[in-house]
Amino acid sequence: MRTIADFQKEVADYIARTHQSGGLLECPLCEQGALIEAEVRATGEQISFCEECDSIWPSECLIDDSHAEAFQTFVDAHGKRGLTWSELKIS
Ligand SMILES: [Zn+2]
Repeated sequence: MRTIADFQKEVADYIARTHQSGGLLECPLCEQGALIEAEVRATGEQISFCEECDSIWPSECLIDDSHAEAFQTFVDAHGKRGLTWSELKIS
């Protein structure tokens, strides 16, 4: 059973790894967090999210202010009631 602690460790690992390769992108919304690429385990959908402000971008969207969705909005809009952070698979 994956926990939120597992998830947070994966995020930290992703940031360390991606930062090292120079590919880490900054969140355009809060300009503080890093963008993490992940997959919704249940659907295989690719997303990017900000580890700081919890904004989400579906992979087909431009990562900018106008396409950002709040995590809860994403869950509601896509019929993924009950989806939690720990169900995201970090790329
Ligand atoms: Zn952010």
